[in-house]
Amino acid sequence: MSTTPHCPDCEKEMEKGFIPDNMFLGALQTVWHPGDPESAGDTFFGMKVKNRTKTVHVDQSGTRKITTYRCPACGLLRSYTE
Ligand SMILES: [Zn+2]
Repeated sequence: MSTTPHCPDCEKEMEKGFIPDNMFLGALQTVWHPGDPESAGDTFFGMKVKNRTKTVHVDQSGTRKITTYRCPACGLLRSYTE
C-alpha cells in the first residue's frame, strides 16, 4: 500500500499498524498463508506432547506479511498483504 486507506464508514484516514503473533520467545508479524492449514503434528522439539496447542505447518515461501490499518474513530481494522 503506497497510499493510506480511509475508513469506508467514517472516511477518516486510517492508522498503520500490525497484529503481533505471540510466540514462545516473543512476537512476530502475522503473515498470510495460502491454502488450508495443515497440522504440524503433536511433537514439540522431538517430544510427544499431549493436549498442547495445535500448530500448523508453515511453508515460508508462500507467506505474505500483513499490514493492518485501524480507524481512529470507529476502530475498524483493514488488513492488506504485501
Ligand atoms: Zn471508521
